[in-house]
Amino acid sequence: MQRLGSRDMGAEIERALSNPNLQRALDNAMATLYGRRGAVLGSIDFEALRRRARELKERALARNDELLAQVVERVTELGGTVAVTANAAEARDYIAALARDRGVRRVVKAKSMVSEEIHLNSALEERGIEVVETDLGERIIQLAGERPSHLIVPAVHKTKDDIIDLLARTMGLADPPTQAEDLTRLIRVDLRERFLTADMGITGANFVVAETGTLVLVENEGNIRLSSQLPPVHVALTGREKIVETLADIATFLELLPRSGTGQLLTSYVSLITGVPSTEVTDFGRATGETVHEREFHLVIVDNGRSTAAADPQLREALYCIRCGACLNACAPYTRVGGHVYGSDPYPGASGAPGPTSPRVTPKPARSTVCVPPAPGAPRSAPS
Ligand code: SF4
Repeated sequence: MQRLGSRDMGAEIERALSNPNLQRALDNAMATLYGRRGAVLGSIDFEALRRRARELKERALARNDELLAQVVERVTELGGTVAVTANAAEARDYIAALARDRGVRRVVKAKSMVSEEIHLNSALEERGIEVVETDLGERIIQLAGERPSHLIVPAVHKTKDDIIDLLARTMGLADPPTQAEDLTRLIRVDLRERFLTADMGITGANFVVAETGTLVLVENEGNIRLSSQLPPVHVALTGREKIVETLADIATFLELLPRSGTGQLLTSYVSLITGVPSTEVTDFGRATGETVHEREFHLVIVDNGRSTAAADPQLREALYCIRCGACLNACAPYTRVGGHVYGSDPYPGASGAPGPTSPRVTPKPARSTVCVPPAPGAPRSAPS
């Protein structure tokens, strides 16, 4: 049997293969995702599009230090604050300190793999802050106390029956609905109140544009818009490899990502956020009980080993990933056992699986800047 650290991977594979619910869930979802992607690729020269995206990522990664400095400058000019963090602990501590300073009691959170990577939820919950996942799949696995098992479909390992049982148990429902639409509505109604009373919204970012300091966020549920626009404080958390050079580059990625991820020509919502919104915060009776008028935006950029990976020709490949999840849907082992078996934390599939560290690479020290949140209303200046 193959052992990875203390894990008996062979036994976990056996368990996954003999779990009928998991097999049913994977059969349905993988075939659907794979099929949808195939159906839309014929409408474009997909190879040319993929080559173009690869070139853009290669160029941006080669200039990553310079582009990072540009992002810091632009976002700061636009009234936001940028924290460049060297590791998971620094990123967690920055957000936790910000939440403490602003009296945050409830956070609404959009899907963010980086937040899983740095174990943000538990860090905030340990400090008495309620964290509410607002992506439907993420909310399901949060209620189940699990980790995501797919990059874009975090609850892909669950069948509808699993979800009915879960909601009945966690929401105290004697007679839970059985139709998918009704189950979705149940969660949606429950989330709406939480959006309106959250003191902080946390999102990821699919791309960060160095030229303009713009965050690009793609989604289908509208929860990213609500998380980023309703609470008085918006924190966007992302890895430094998400930085691209220009706004024009985004057109290529917007053609590629939805097609590859969900087989859509475009997702239902694409948000481009540049600077801090000028609209006043609406007081829906937030948990703090205080009326907050000033909006704040904090961009937390995480290194956490990315600089070291970028220095290695093989590991660097992982930084070109746009997290569409298409490789998982086509991967023979993944489609049979799902994402939890790999023991990866949090990135599912072979590229996220733990393995020996590269003998060729000496860890590159990552630099951090602005790791203490500014006082509310303090003038913001670009860090040196
Ligand atoms: S590695 Fe997988 S998730 Fe990343 S861009 Fe390629 S197909 Fe998409």
